[in-house]
Amino acid sequence: MYKRVLLKVSGEQLAGKYEHGIDTELCAWLAGEIKKVTSAGTQVVIMVGGGNMVRGAQIAGHGIHRVTADHMGMLATMINALALTDIFESEDLSTRCLSSIFAEQVAEPFVYRLAQKHLENGRVVIAAGGIGRPYITTDTAAVSLALELDCELVMKATKYNGVYDSDPAKSTDAKQYDSLTFQQAIENPEIKVMDKAALGMAMDYKLTTVIFDTMKADNILGVVQGKSIGTKIS
Ligand code: UDP
Repeated sequence: MYKRVLLKVSGEQLAGKYEHGIDTELCAWLAGEIKKVTSAGTQVVIMVGGGNMVRGAQIAGHGIHRVTADHMGMLATMINALALTDIFESEDLSTRCLSSIFAEQVAEPFVYRLAQKHLENGRVVIAAGGIGRPYITTDTAAVSLALELDCELVMKATKYNGVYDSDPAKSTDAKQYDSLTFQQAIENPEIKVMDKAALGMAMDYKLTTVIFDTMKADNILGVVQGKSIGTKIS
């Protein structure tokens, strides 16, 4: 059983059954899944994406600077983080939203010692605004934050249960890998499930990453317990 883990949830996943916005029912269900983990004594950090609203690289151009586009993306993650925090708390899951962009009126600032304190007190810490710098995605921000907070595992939530040798959305005979080395995941151009920059950073610091279907009951707990679920990259 891991003591402290980081879960990366993309904006697309928070949108659930909707094309945009936030699926509040799904977030409430997710609270229940995470409660199983915190009740078992594991501390949980969550990095939320913002792809259900804005992805910097996609909207840059046509008069919008890349840095501004990334700021917009970070604000999108903030919207998701605020929603998730309230929903988790309303489900009796003690949670704090810490922001890496200056937003004192809406969230506590991300301060290393504060994050440690919340985690040690059993609260889920939800990171808003990634790590607050442009030109990176929340995948890379997730690995960076996991390192900063001594997480033993990065858990990346995906629609499909792991990494496949081809796109499972396009090919019915796509095969899932149980495990991969970082080198294999980085070198294979077919593997797009996680940013190469994020994988490179995880490799440099030997931070094991599991790619799995978070939206299946007991999967988050199973991964934290070390069960063979999804694809392990180490
Ligand atoms: N972003 C950023 N710095 C960070 C984290 C996020 O600039 O530390 C911006 C970036 O533009 C990114 C957007 O926020 O595209 C939303 O995050 P992401 O695309 O990773 O969301 P996801 O696809 O996981 O929902």
